[in-house]
Amino acid sequence: MSVLDGHCETMGEVTFAGDLSAPDPIPEAGIDAAVRLLKDGRLFRYGEDRNSIPEAALLEQEFAAYQGRKYCVAVNSGGCALFIALKAAGVCPGDKVLINAFTLAPVPGAIAHAGGEAVLVDIDDRYVVDLEDLDRKAAASGAKFLLLSFMRGHIPDMDAVTGICARHGVTMIEDCAHTMGGGWDGRLTGTFGVAGCFSAQTFKQVNSGEGGLVVTDDEDLAARAILLSGSYMLYAQHRARPAMDVFERHRYTTPNCSMRMSGLVASLLRPQLATLDERNRRWRRIYDCLASELAPVNGLNLPARPAKEDFAPTSMQFSVSPDLLSDQQLLRFIQNADAHGVHVKWFGAPDPIGFTSRHDHWRYVDGTRAGAVPNADRVLSRLCDFRLPLWLSDADCRTIAAVLKQAVAAAGYTESDAGGIKSSA
Ligand SMILES: *Cc1c(COP(=O)(O)O)cnc(C)c1O
Repeated sequence: MSVLDGHCETMGEVTFAGDLSAPDPIPEAGIDAAVRLLKDGRLFRYGEDRNSIPEAALLEQEFAAYQGRKYCVAVNSGGCALFIALKAAGVCPGDKVLINAFTLAPVPGAIAHAGGEAVLVDIDDRYVVDLEDLDRKAAASGAKFLLLSFMRGHIPDMDAVTGICARHGVTMIEDCAHTMGGGWDGRLTGTFGVAGCFSAQTFKQVNSGEGGLVVTDDEDLAARAILLSGSYMLYAQHRARPAMDVFERHRYTTPNCSMRMSGLVASLLRPQLATLDERNRRWRRIYDCLASELAPVNGLNLPARPAKEDFAPTSMQFSVSPDLLSDQQLLRFIQNADAHGVHVKWFGAPDPIGFTSRHDHWRYVDGTRAGAVPNADRVLSRLCDFRLPLWLSDADCRTIAAVLKQAVAAAGYTESDAGGIKSSA
C-alpha cells in the first residue's frame, strides 16, 4: 500500500519549494572578522607584524582544544589534510593503505597523491567499514595504514576498528570530513587514530568554501604536517604546535607543499566552531524528524544507528529495496522527486554525477572491478542521498518526506497503467 493511495488525485501533488543546496549564511562575527582582514590586507596566515595573532593560528588553537588534542594544523582543503596526514604519518610511495569502499573521490585521490596504493575494504549495510573484511584485508594485504572515512557521517564500531588495527600493527588516520563534532561512545571522531582530518568545504559542518584541519597528539607527525603544509621557517607562529626542538628533526628533510589555509578562511571558520555543538544538535533533530516520517515506508531502508553512534548528519541516506522499485523505477523515483523540489543523488548511477562517487569510478585504484567488494556493489547500487541544510523546519521535513513518498508511489506505476492501477506494492 502506498501511503498516498487514494489521496494523490484529490490532494494534488506535493512540491518542496526550498533549495536543499542553499547553505546557511556565514555568521555576522565571521563576516566582520573577514572584512577587518580585507581592510588590513594581511591575508597570508603568517604575519611579520608582532602585535596581532594571526587568525589561522587562533583557529588551530581553538580546534585543538575542541578536539582535546595537542596539535592542529590548518590547510587549504580536506583532501590536502588527508594527503598531509598520510605523508606525515610516514606513507611512502608504494605503501598500501586500506580504505572503506564507500567514500568520496578525494580519499583515494589523497592516497594517490602520497604515492600510496589504496586497498578497498568492503562495507556493511550500515554503510560503514565491514569489520570482518577489514580484519581479512589487513592480514592479506600486509597494509600498515588505514584511512578510515566516516563517509556521509556514518561511524563504525570504533572499539572494534581500533582493536583490529592494533592486532595487525596498522596505523589509522581518520577522515572526519562529515563528522566534525560527531563521535562514538562519547569520544569524538578524530581522536581514535594517530591523526584526524577535517574539511571546511561548503557542505560539511563548517563552511569556508575550502579548508582543512589535521589534529594529532604525535609531536613528530605534527611538526612534519606543519612543515609540509608550507610553513616556511615561520612555524614558531603556530600556537597548537610541538616544541621548537621537534622541528629541528624535520626542517631540512620535509618538503614545503604549499597547502596553507589563508587568514581569510580561518576568520570565517572561528565563529562557526563556537556554535558547532548547537548546530549538530539541530542537524540531528532534522534527521530524526525525517527518519520518523520515512522509516515506516516499506522498502525505503534507513541504516541502523547504534546508541553509541553520536552522529551529526549534514545529509541523509536511504537504500531502496529492489522489491519496492526496479532499477528503471528507481530512476523514475529520482526524476519525480527532483521534479518536485527534492534533489536525490543515486550512487548506483553508471557515471559519476556531481559529488557521487563509487569505487569503480576510480580506475587508478586496484581492486575496483565488480565483485571485489560485493556488499559495497550491492549497497551502492541502491543507495540514495540528499542534503540536509540547517534551516529545514519540521514542516519542511514533513514536506520532503511527502515528496519522497509521492515519488515512490509515482515510480511504482508503469506507462501502461496510466489508468491508475499500481504495478507493485
Ligand atoms: C568532502 C570530503 C573530503 C574532502 O574534502 P575537500 O575539502 O572537499 O577536499 C574527504 N572525505 C570525505 C568523505 C568528504 O566528504
